[in-house]
Amino acid sequence: MNFDPTSFSSFALIGTAFAAAFVAVLWISLVIWTYRDIRRRSRDPLARILAVLVTVLLFFPGVLIYFILRPTHTLEDDYQQTLEEEALLQTIEDIPLCPGCTRRVQTNWMVCPNCQTKLKKRCHHCKELMELSWNICPYCATPVPGMRKENVTLEEVLPPLPDSLFSFDDDDGDLGPQENKL
Ligand SMILES: [Zn+2]
Ligand SMILES: [Zn+2]
Repeated sequence: MNFDPTSFSSFALIGTAFAAAFVAVLWISLVIWTYRDIRRRSRDPLARILAVLVTVLLFFPGVLIYFILRPTHTLEDDYQQTLEEEALLQTIEDIPLCPGCTRRVQTNWMVCPNCQTKLKKRCHHCKELMELSWNICPYCATPVPGMRKENVTLEEVLPPLPDSLFSFDDDDGDLGPQENKL
């Protein structure tokens, strides 16, 4: 078997070319990855430029340095955290507390079971629960008794008159059977 030194050197050349191409592609990929990663973590243009520059100039060690120094949270993480904090604050604010003993109460309780403070009142018309401060029922628009009604007409205030006052002529009712007899 004859060993050809020229073919070996050409193989070595091709191998080196492949290796160089691989390293170049890897380098570009790392730069792109760094750019994408820093874009998700920082809005500061200077930080973005520095991060990409470190990878461009130092290659693998540059990525390592970037990995150590990059902001730990992404912008989305920060946003989600803010949302969660706001939601938590909202739920804390939403929990109704008894004005008498500041214990937690349910929204549909009328009286605090702990200190017997009145929490809600019932609409006398539709029986829905209402806040104590409300003067009108939001469910059926009935004003709370004792509250002054605005823009009330006289007919609404006066009790309805009996129907007998208006029925002067009652002949129509008797006419029917008479016609049947004929
Ligand atoms: Zn209470
Ligand atoms: Zn009502």
